[in-house]
Amino acid sequence: MNFNSDRPMFDATCSKCGNETQVPFQPSGDRPVYCNDCFRQMKGERTGGAGAGFGGANRPMFDAVCATCGTPTQVPFQPSEGRPVYCREHYKRDRM
Ligand SMILES: [Zn+2]
Ligand SMILES: [Zn+2]
Repeated sequence: MNFNSDRPMFDATCSKCGNETQVPFQPSGDRPVYCNDCFRQMKGERTGGAGAGFGGANRPMFDAVCATCGTPTQVPFQPSEGRPVYCREHYKRDRM
C-alpha cells in the first residue's frame, strides 16, 4: 500500500461517465471533473485515435501515395492535388 495520506482527496462525480471518483482538489461545481479513465482518454485524444506506433510523432500525419513507386506513405502535411508526394525513400532521393 503506497497511499499518500497527507494529500486530501475529495469525492467527485465524473462529468463524462458519471462514475464516482476522487480528485486532489475541491470540486467547484462549475468546472468539470473527470475520473482517471476519462481523464486519460481525453489526454490520449490529442495524439490521435489511430495509434500507429510512430514513436514520439506528435505531428498529425496524412495518408498519401508515393508518386514514384505508388507505395502508401504518410506525410506531415495535407497532400494537395497536382502536387506529387513521395515516400520517405523517394523524397530523400529527390532532394539529393
Ligand atoms: Zn469518467
Ligand atoms: Zn516511393
